[in-house]
Amino acid sequence: MKPLKHVDSNMNNLISDLQTLIRQPSVSAKNEGIEECARLVKKMLNKSGIKSEILRLGKGVAPLVYGEVKSKKNNSKTLMFYNHYDVQPAEPFDLWDYPPFSGKIKGNKIFGRGATDDKGELITRIKAVEAHLKTTGDVPCNVKFVIEGEEETGSAHIDQYLKKYKKKFACDGVIWEFGYVDSKNRPIVGLGMKGLLFVELSIRESIRDAHSSLAVLIKNPAWRLIDAVKTLRDSDGKILIKDWYREVTPFSKEDLKLIAKEPFDEKSFKKEFGVKSFVSHKRGFDAKKALAGDATCNIAGFISGYAGEGAKTVLPGEALVKIDFRLVPKMKPKKQVQRLKEHLKSKGFSDVKIKVFHGEAAARTKPSDPFVSKVKEAADESFGNSILNVSNAGTGPMYSFAENLGAPCISIGSTYIFSRIHSPNEFARVDLLKKTTKCICLIMDKFAKG
Ligand SMILES: [Zn+2]
Repeated sequence: MKPLKHVDSNMNNLISDLQTLIRQPSVSAKNEGIEECARLVKKMLNKSGIKSEILRLGKGVAPLVYGEVKSKKNNSKTLMFYNHYDVQPAEPFDLWDYPPFSGKIKGNKIFGRGATDDKGELITRIKAVEAHLKTTGDVPCNVKFVIEGEEETGSAHIDQYLKKYKKKFACDGVIWEFGYVDSKNRPIVGLGMKGLLFVELSIRESIRDAHSSLAVLIKNPAWRLIDAVKTLRDSDGKILIKDWYREVTPFSKEDLKLIAKEPFDEKSFKKEFGVKSFVSHKRGFDAKKALAGDATCNIAGFISGYAGEGAKTVLPGEALVKIDFRLVPKMKPKKQVQRLKEHLKSKGFSDVKIKVFHGEAAARTKPSDPFVSKVKEAADESFGNSILNVSNAGTGPMYSFAENLGAPCISIGSTYIFSRIHSPNEFARVDLLKKTTKCICLIMDKFAKG
């Protein structure tokens, strides 16, 4: 296939364009270089033959770069690439071996913040489309690019963009912004993401901290908050809030088959974290099932009183806990917040204040969707083999895409699991960038054919 040969002989181009992207900092958390990077991405799309424009929602919202190529074939289907041009902050700078925005090349690796997440992934999509255009003068299917600038701060406005531009963004399938490649160089074809509900629970008992001798009279809010939190979950991880799991449906037979097939190196996983056993003594298949499909109630932080050096006999005036709940399909964040409120009230904890930071539903594409086999075939051809994953244990705004566009979403990409994304010395692997670009070329081809 001509486009694949084109990818092989144009890797230098891909690498230098990726370096250009890395050299433009675009840290959404600090609003650093966001406008500049959006303009750079637009220019790069145009250069590759992808008609592009910058879309806006208003002040204080990062612009979204939109790109489109229409196939000359009639009735062609439309494939969307969802990516992001923003990156995580590069701090701590002194832990980097090369400056984080240099795009330094060392052997098979390109170093820099965003080298993989997500500028590396984005460049594979752009170059795949370019390879088709350069060698055939056309694309096998219509393509659309939606490249946002707020992913690393939680994609706060992607849902609004999707609603506002629903017609413009209409498509038949979405290729997600990343895809993991495991330690044995097998790409993970990911079919879902969990949802997330992040809340803060707090209790203020007195207007200030007091001498702890007064604990005989003044109630300690830390004790009270511990009592409240203990009602949320049992020691096996099961959430005890009434109706929490009500709408959840069990895994299908198909799902279970895929989970059984997925590799999971329990020993090295435990070694990596220095843990001896898992929650509820899960092992093997049950551990894999939990990663793909269990809801969680996790204490992310608990603050009260004094936890510094030495002793301080203090009675805190306030206690605060941050909790993240991973949600599974059919759990609606708003409804779950309501259930949490009712639960605390019914247990006698109406004095607990609830602050909601973030709510996002889970999404999954069915393994039987025809889009899945096409992506899997393309991945097998390009990488030699691949692994189907029912759902990632993490969260992304996949539900917004699936819901607003009514299109299946699949993640596939070049993100080597040890590529230190979000950490110092993030890098992309040139061999994986090449394989992924070819894989995307093949996906476009297969997607067009039925
Ligand atoms: Zn990221």
